[in-house]
Amino acid sequence: MDFTVPQQRSVVTELPGPRSRELLERRRRSVSRGAGTLADIFMDHGSGAILVDVDGNRLIDLGCGIGVTTIGHAHPDVAAAASAQASKLTHTLFTVTPYENYVLVAEKLAELTPGDFEKHSILVNSGAEAVENAVKIARRYTGRRAIASLAHAFHGRTNLTMAMTYRPWPERAGMGPFPGEVYSVPSSYPFKDGLSGPDAAARTIDYINTHIGPTELAALFVEPIQGDGGIVIPAEGYLEALAAYCAEHGIVLVSDEIQAGIARSGAWYSIEHFGVVPDLVTTAKGIAGGFPLAAVTGRAEIMDAVQPGGIGGTFGGNPVSTAAALATLEVIERDGLIAEAQRVERAFAARIGDWASRYSVVGEVRGKGAMWGVELVVPGTREPNAAALTSVLRHATSNGVIPLDAGSWDSVLRFLPSVVISEELVDDAASVIEQELARLSA
Ligand SMILES: *Cc1c(COP(=O)(O)O)cnc(C)c1O
Repeated sequence: MDFTVPQQRSVVTELPGPRSRELLERRRRSVSRGAGTLADIFMDHGSGAILVDVDGNRLIDLGCGIGVTTIGHAHPDVAAAASAQASKLTHTLFTVTPYENYVLVAEKLAELTPGDFEKHSILVNSGAEAVENAVKIARRYTGRRAIASLAHAFHGRTNLTMAMTYRPWPERAGMGPFPGEVYSVPSSYPFKDGLSGPDAAARTIDYINTHIGPTELAALFVEPIQGDGGIVIPAEGYLEALAAYCAEHGIVLVSDEIQAGIARSGAWYSIEHFGVVPDLVTTAKGIAGGFPLAAVTGRAEIMDAVQPGGIGGTFGGNPVSTAAALATLEVIERDGLIAEAQRVERAFAARIGDWASRYSVVGEVRGKGAMWGVELVVPGTREPNAAALTSVLRHATSNGVIPLDAGSWDSVLRFLPSVVISEELVDDAASVIEQELARLSA
């Protein structure tokens, strides 16, 4: 892979630099404060795992705009495919007059998603829209109304998906009322609950049985590895037990793979690590190299339960976004990027895997593929430490490293780097973050 930007951090001004601060002032006068930013550094271009800001600083991107540019920034193959498509045909609306790219993406998703059965897809614009459509499809198929999602889940910011998202702040505060028949059920969070997979599943199932009733539940939504919740990996056996329960009671099991899917976890879909085959899968973030595209894919009989016209939307499966997706999926296969995500897992495990024993402010380090979470605690306890996260983020971003935040208590440092990130960049970024971890642990 040839990069157009050297894969090295280089900080040449204070951060944010003068040009960023100028744009920030203008942003304050024109953009809603509701679109809050993690770092006030305006970006100009990028390549691989490096972003270059408007002042010429090169920053290590450990966030990929929340797990989107998994294959690296401004990938040349994606740029070429999108620009060729943009000068050929940009829109017809698939449900007025169809075009081939849409079908090609649906064929590819049927091949890549778990399960050896006929699968159909609908393409939409955003993750939240995919989740909303999965709710509609599951309700239509089962004739039931109730929807369950797990504690610490993140499913989006539309009204329905806010109701399915766990934490009240900042996503939900002051935004209600939310739709009814949406239930949050206990999950598996080994660092917090210490439960085995079977015990955590028994707790989830008991909650469903006593609060909802299995015959009323249309769908159970799970993120096999929770992203915004703090890179939470459920205990062994948890998802298997939930899948068996759903199968027994005719509940549609939806794997929300919007963050953990498409190579991110070292597999095409993160639920593969648990040997579970879901009924429906939602895909978005990493699928199109930065272009907006999302999908619901699943068992043909469930996907086809909806009457023609019952799902869709003007821009869904746009010709340019689908061209970008086809190029992205091709790059992942051709360049062996699933194996690269596994390489990144080894690099992080080797470099930061011992942080909990070296820094008292770190309670646990956990990850899979190119998704990692660092649980920050009040030293000597397991209490969440949101202040530590704020200061680690401030230190990192002002030194040219862009990580992410996560967790229901705002205390998980999250890394979602590109799978093309080098060992040298992982090492350099870790060294920057360690300076602050050491200070906080002293
Ligand atoms: C980001 C995300 C969503 C929402 O996707 P948008 O494109 O932001 O609407 C839903 N589910 C998961 C797991 C996500 O990470």
